[in-house]
Amino acid sequence: MAVDYQSLAVKGVQALSPYQPGKPIEELARELGLNPAEIIKLASNENPLGPSEKALAAARKALEELCLYPDGNGFELKQALANRFGVGMDQITLGNGSNDVLEVIARCFADTESEVVFSQYAFAVYPIVTQAIGAKGVPVPAKEWGHDLDAMAAAVTERTKLVFVANPNNPTGTVHTARAIESFLDKIPERVLVVLDEAYCEYLTGEEYPDGIKLLERYPNLIVCRTFSKAWGLAALRVGYAISSPAIADILNRVRQPFNVDSVALAAATAVLQDEAYLNRSREVNAAGLRQLSEAFELIGLPYIPSAGNFIAVEVGDQAQGIYQSLLSHGVIVRPIAGYGMPLHLRVSVGLPEENERFLDALSQSLAAAGQGG
Ligand SMILES: *Cc1c(COP(=O)(O)O)cnc(C)c1O
Repeated sequence: MAVDYQSLAVKGVQALSPYQPGKPIEELARELGLNPAEIIKLASNENPLGPSEKALAAARKALEELCLYPDGNGFELKQALANRFGVGMDQITLGNGSNDVLEVIARCFADTESEVVFSQYAFAVYPIVTQAIGAKGVPVPAKEWGHDLDAMAAAVTERTKLVFVANPNNPTGTVHTARAIESFLDKIPERVLVVLDEAYCEYLTGEEYPDGIKLLERYPNLIVCRTFSKAWGLAALRVGYAISSPAIADILNRVRQPFNVDSVALAAATAVLQDEAYLNRSREVNAAGLRQLSEAFELIGLPYIPSAGNFIAVEVGDQAQGIYQSLLSHGVIVRPIAGYGMPLHLRVSVGLPEENERFLDALSQSLAAAGQGG
């Protein structure tokens, strides 16, 4: 009898739905016979500025050493991060994107006996890594699209090993203040690890928001995850990192692949940390784009979730899938988020002013075609 190989997979994996990335530009170009240069992608929260010149120069230089394995310890990048944040190099774990770090954390600290707490509408990678290792995911209903931190703290049981908190959260853009995060951390037992995912923290302005790294001394059960994929503009190279106590970092570093960040990525990430002007431009372009998009949504009369990230979830109604398709036909890629349980919304990443304008034009036409005014 033929073997059903799917049935051989471990239980969590059998029922796993894979992460759905934004549609690549080349794929849409192939499907619709469009010129890739005329397509804009506002689907994966990428930095619309293009990479930093400093990062590019460092990456080009690193290409000459492609025959050599990368520095498995990532010495220079860790040193640069340690200097920037005033932490020890032994507190840092590098990852092939912060997705990699999130997965390593789950594998190191949870197993089939464990529960892992995260919010409804939170980043899709949390349930995926939880399920893949056969742990029990405990999704906690959201409050006004954001994390209900009190309910999340209350969901912690004897079996809970990890709690994932995205601040700001993707795909909703919701954010909690430092006071809210600290009062949440005060409620979590020290034996439960809290992963504070700060993928968008560079976009936060204002004293009221937390800097997870500053909380590490007070909360030794905290792991802060960050990435070079968003404000730092290096999504293609896949570099992220965790900052934690040295004891936790030691565990994570046992399990991560020895060469999980390649030399080109290491060089570019180290260099971009010196490019403060790039970071500032990223912030400015993002703040202006958030204003441009939200003002336009208000004008059209579309509800949206105010965002602290580099994207906005806008409610286009029960025609969302059709409007997404219509936007594609205009050469504009955004992100449907029905998979997040938000079938009425589309998530649009902030682009350059002219890209936002093109999206808004295409959106008005698509809404009109769907009979929703605009
Ligand atoms: C984009 C994102 C990440 C980072 O992904 P990388 O693997 O570093 O590219 C992590 N968490 C959230 C919430 C994100 O939106």
